[in-house]
Amino acid sequence: MDEYLFIIPLFAAVAIGWLLGRRQNNKQPSQNTLQQEYFRGLDFLLSEKTDEAIDSFIRALEINSDTIPAHIALAKLFRKKGDVERAIQIHQSLLARSNLSHDDFMRIQMALARDYYAVGLLDRAENLLIEIRSQRPDADVRQNAAALLIKLYAKEKEWQQALDVAQQLSTLELLGLDVELSHYCCELAERYMASQRYRHAMSKLNEAFSFDKNSVRASLLLADIAIKQAEWKKAIAALKQIAQQDSAFLSETIDRLKHCYLELNQLSEFERLMKQWLNKYPSTSIMLALADIIVERQGAYPAGAFITDQLKKRPSLKGFNQLIDLYIAHAAKGTNESLMVLRGLTGQLELSKPVYHCQRCGFSGKSLHWQCPSCQNWGTTKPIHGLEGE
Ligand SMILES: [Zn+2]
Repeated sequence: MDEYLFIIPLFAAVAIGWLLGRRQNNKQPSQNTLQQEYFRGLDFLLSEKTDEAIDSFIRALEINSDTIPAHIALAKLFRKKGDVERAIQIHQSLLARSNLSHDDFMRIQMALARDYYAVGLLDRAENLLIEIRSQRPDADVRQNAAALLIKLYAKEKEWQQALDVAQQLSTLELLGLDVELSHYCCELAERYMASQRYRHAMSKLNEAFSFDKNSVRASLLLADIAIKQAEWKKAIAALKQIAQQDSAFLSETIDRLKHCYLELNQLSEFERLMKQWLNKYPSTSIMLALADIIVERQGAYPAGAFITDQLKKRPSLKGFNQLIDLYIAHAAKGTNESLMVLRGLTGQLELSKPVYHCQRCGFSGKSLHWQCPSCQNWGTTKPIHGLEGE
């Protein structure tokens, strides 16, 4: 089936290219040979000899400015099929021709850079992309070259180099890249934080917000820097803004917020905020933070009643386990043992469930990855909500 999916566009590309070539060159004596190659290719195709069919089509497809897009499309099909070497061969043989226009030359070089990138020849791809950018290509090639160069530097974790390339693009050209660029700034901020260079880290976080004002990661890092410097109010302000940026991440803020409010000796303020959030953005972590405060202030029974009431509205495995824990701590000895068995089972069930989930490819796991390890997209992984999550 895959083979046919590959052959249909290949056949269309070659047929169009061949017709265009024929229109341009119908007075050339080689036409009969080309026609023969074309029909031989068809024959191979019908006999399911794909490789031979492709070779015949390449020979049949005359190279001129009209058929170059068909050659590039053909090579792209090879690259997508995983045969990058053959794509490189096609592009290199096209580049060897002396009668190419500047635009065609640029387009083929760009396609060759994509081949190098696909096959992991990153140094070659980088050099070629830098060369393309220095040769004043048209706007499309210029933007494609910049986007691929940014992707390449990101793959090598050369975040600053990626940002330097982005800086040369216009606001319009940056569209679609803003979220990942903000993550590159956060990556750099984390490096600075690891060596306690907080001022540099803060400046990178401000840059992150300039790309994506809703960067939850930048807000969390901003709060972490403030916490390290005992600036509790500043940390609280950074964490609170996550409610507006993406409330799905509020579960990430609870422990940090409680720590800051405790340092300020303002636990009642924390309680007020949690009540407000539970109303607006219901989640198990917020509910359990409130239950903890009730345990500390009023004891286990009112806390148990609160959790039971909340579970009726929003059932969750995590909430259920917390409720059993409260009963275990305060139940009579006989009841206690059977509850322990039940808790063991539901605890295992909770442990077996992932906590985060990529909304693009479905990859899920226990850790929050800002770049999905499976589909490589940035900022697509979020905490899981519902019965088995928040
Ligand atoms: Zn993914």
